[in-house]
Amino acid sequence: EQNPRIVVLGAGYAGMMTTKKLMKQLQPEEAEIVLVNKHNYHYQTTWLHEVAAGTINHNQARIMISDIINPNRVRLIYDSVEEINRDEKRVVLENSELSYDYLVVSLGFETNTFGIKGMDEHAFFIQDIDSSQLIREHIEYQFAQYKNTGEDDNQLTILVGGGGFTGIEFVGELAEKVPKLCKKYDIDRSKARIINVEAAPSILPGFDTDLVAYAKSSLEKRGVEFMEGAKIQACTEEGFVVGDDNELIQAGTIVWTGGVTGNSVLGKSGFELTKGKVTVNGDLRAPGEENIFIIGDCAWVMNEKEGRPFPPTAQAAMQHATTCANNLRALLRNESLQNFVFDDKGTVASLGVTDAMGTVFGNKLYGKPAAAMKKVVDNRYIFMLGGPKLFLKKGKVRPF
Ligand code: FAD
Ligand code: NAD
Repeated sequence: EQNPRIVVLGAGYAGMMTTKKLMKQLQPEEAEIVLVNKHNYHYQTTWLHEVAAGTINHNQARIMISDIINPNRVRLIYDSVEEINRDEKRVVLENSELSYDYLVVSLGFETNTFGIKGMDEHAFFIQDIDSSQLIREHIEYQFAQYKNTGEDDNQLTILVGGGGFTGIEFVGELAEKVPKLCKKYDIDRSKARIINVEAAPSILPGFDTDLVAYAKSSLEKRGVEFMEGAKIQACTEEGFVVGDDNELIQAGTIVWTGGVTGNSVLGKSGFELTKGKVTVNGDLRAPGEENIFIIGDCAWVMNEKEGRPFPPTAQAAMQHATTCANNLRALLRNESLQNFVFDDKGTVASLGVTDAMGTVFGNKLYGKPAAAMKKVVDNRYIFMLGGPKLFLKKGKVRPF
């Protein structure tokens, strides 16, 4: 008889940590473990705004999966998941198929354009390494081309749609990068604009108002402009169409950071969705499924106290992984499953290399201490994943 097979789909925070824990907790004869991912590397989604602005090299944000996961213990398959066939317990990949006994769906997020006209065609997304590199290259090209033609100042405008954490962290990096590009191409700094457009009355809706005010003023001092209470109605080749009077804001670079949803494989596989994700049971299994766990940004995990789901974060995705691995072991050993309990350590958002703000264990932090804390958070994950060896290779040791 063959060992039961656990298949993990997606090597993001949730998938990598689940696989790592399974590798440690299970004896080889208890289960075969298979990890499927689109690329042979794992990337730090939480650093993609830096890759997109060009303030870090994309190689710093990615890690070879086989450096972390032992290929002698875990079968690694680099292929794209197309669909999950639950009736037959099979996963359809672009180039092959795979059967499973236990499945972990950790395929992460996709950018959500909410059907806004023209957004898919004309805006860039901070979604993965490739889409983020494209933004960096595009911005640099705008500056280089302007220097050669010098005709249209709008070419130097970078428009960012959505003032959630992704949009705000991205404009923070742009505030570092744009002066450097101006210097490189001999362009007057005042000609290059960074504009963030947010539909809600304020950027970072729902976050601590003192910290939001701090973020806004810090970014404005470094030349970021904000349009708040300004809903983007459409996107054209030239820019965003904004507000009730349909004002066109022109730009050479248009980036949409207005929202995320679960991976589209969920819908293709017939799972019941709420706003693009599966609302999972307390033990992180999909409703009605004995053997399928859905974790990370593909899952809504209910915050029973507040009667709404927890926001999708890397912090939560890693904690899902611990519960998911424990529950898989429990299933294999006929033990009882545990419910997920979120341990909220806080939120820190970077505002560039030397500035940040957030709440840590309930305390407000901003400025250099917050920026230092942000690096601690980033480096802690690198340590958890690959110990000191990986930290030396990929840790954030930039002085500030
Ligand atoms: P992901 O990290 O998205 O990983 C999904 C994996 O699945 C990827 O490796 C992908 O290549 C793979 N995959 C996708 N589709 C397929 C397919 N069809 N076939 C095979 N493989 C596939 N959260 C925080 O807690 N703190 C932060 O500071 C923070 N900063 C952020 C900054 C930015 C710019 C962004 C965009 C998000 C940030 N977040 C942050 C949110 C956080 O990144 C996500 O919640 C987290 O990445 C979710 O982890 P995941 O494992 O579910 O998915
Ligand atoms: P989000 O949904 O949190 O923010 C999107 C923003 O776009 C919102 O403020 C929304 O009001 C705005 N928006 C939506 N439609 C609009 C329109 N038509 N016109 C103008 N504005 C519009 O998405 P995100 O910022 O990508 O964050 C996704 C998740 O990742 C969140 O859970 C977030 O907490 C997490 N995240 C965390 C960090 C961090 O902890 N440092 C950083 C980035 C992301």
